[in-house]
Amino acid sequence: MGSVAASGDRFAKFEKQPIEGRLYINGEFVESKAGKIFDVINPATEKKSASVSEAGVEDVDAAVAAAKAAFPAWSELSADARGGYLLKLADALEKRTDEMAYLDAISMGAPAHTSFLNQMALTALRYFAGRAWDIHGDSSLNTPGFVNVTFRQPFGVTAGITPWNVPVAMVLFKLAPALITGNTIVIKASEKAPLAPIIVAKCCEEIGLPKGVFNLINGFGRPTGEALAKHMDVRKISFTGSTLTGRAIKKAAAESNLKKVSLELGGKSPLVIFPDADLSKAVPAAAVSILMNSGQACIASSRVYVHADIADQFTEAMKSAMEEMGKSGDPLTSTTAMRGPQVDKLQFNRVMDFLTYAKENNLEVLTGGDRERDTGFYIAPTIISNAPEDSRVMKEEIFGPVVCINTFTDEEDVLNRANDTEYGLYASVFTRDISRALKFAKRMEAGSVGINTSSPTMAFDMPFGGWKASGDGRELSMHATDHWTELKSVFIAL
Ligand code: NAD
Repeated sequence: MGSVAASGDRFAKFEKQPIEGRLYINGEFVESKAGKIFDVINPATEKKSASVSEAGVEDVDAAVAAAKAAFPAWSELSADARGGYLLKLADALEKRTDEMAYLDAISMGAPAHTSFLNQMALTALRYFAGRAWDIHGDSSLNTPGFVNVTFRQPFGVTAGITPWNVPVAMVLFKLAPALITGNTIVIKASEKAPLAPIIVAKCCEEIGLPKGVFNLINGFGRPTGEALAKHMDVRKISFTGSTLTGRAIKKAAAESNLKKVSLELGGKSPLVIFPDADLSKAVPAAAVSILMNSGQACIASSRVYVHADIADQFTEAMKSAMEEMGKSGDPLTSTTAMRGPQVDKLQFNRVMDFLTYAKENNLEVLTGGDRERDTGFYIAPTIISNAPEDSRVMKEEIFGPVVCINTFTDEEDVLNRANDTEYGLYASVFTRDISRALKFAKRMEAGSVGINTSSPTMAFDMPFGGWKASGDGRELSMHATDHWTELKSVFIAL
């Protein structure tokens, strides 16, 4: 763990506190039935931060059974009552944002002093609390002699499996719509960053959320995640993570009870910059998009296409921005702004593998291209330019502070290149030409499009999700709750 002196007063108190690592099942913190634990490693120091219980199949069964028992009473509560619990949970978590920032820092390396994502995620709870009254069906008088109505009803027991890059937000983006629509839920957080999500469980206990409504288990993809994805009593699963695991989740659902599946997966997002763009906005937007969370963002604009007429000017400015904004440091030190280490050794090695590929294939590396520091999983902010469109660095999600910059001259050609990917999560265009901007917004194959902005621009009342292999379903907005309810047609003969 970081030293008390390094983290300063704001976070020092948490260094002395014991860290909860147990499973939260049926409103209680319990050890894994198999007595198994695993270690969480601080990616800045490479030392152990905490030990966490690993849920076995029996623990998954217990969590699902608790959620099943809790469902009838929870689903019968009024919208007001369910919304009230979400609001109380947001208030309870708000008091612990520093603690969550500290736990993220020592598990996945996010800079604690500039942490805002946990605070931001609380808005999801408040947003969905406000949606409570609007979850209902509609009616039809179109069949003579009938009044027909639809019901929107909860599934029953639902599940969530989350990644490590925004640990608390990913849990809340599932918990909030699941609970407000009357479902109960079992969530498996990522084994790489399980500590801050446990604070969500603690706050559920503190506010008196009825037992079994929310259950939090920890463990690896196999056996824990797989057991949840295959469980016959889970009627819907919402997964956020890699496209590879997304396929495994769909397969597990198909091989068990055909539970409904929604997926939020990876990306390889294009950002196109025309000569009429305001570079004073485009350059920082491009740099923030790839540096944010050390490049570990599904929506990172990792492929930049800049018009040949401004390529030198843009690239030079981008290099300076990457070097300046991308300075790394200990996640607990107050001067560390944007960038800590990559989450763990595995992820570090994955990114290094792409950098080795760039070297071996003589790709132009304008800055970075290697690790930073001797200790900790730090990667230097890296720009690769003019990589072939079919090269690995252009096709695969790197999930590190590595951006590819290519040039273009023809509008149609760049649109085709931007869309020439299996992914479709986010796309952006910078231009002052409104017709061109809207043409790109229409033609870009992505769930979100930024015009004169880029990721992480999002809004709670706007749907978030992927086209193509980037996902299935939507989180946030009025559309999200549709994915947490079954639809029923009721025919009433007059
Ligand atoms: P991952 O797929 O390796 O793991 C995600 C979760 O799945 C973890 O909890 C893991 O334990 C679990 N898991 C792994 N194998 C499993 C299996 N066979 N069955 C059930 N569960 C299993 O992803 P990650 O490395 O944690 O996260 C990074 C990925 O997540 C990136 O691809 C990123 O783009 C994506 N992501 C997407 C979004 C989005 O909203 N679209 C948001 C954040 C991250």
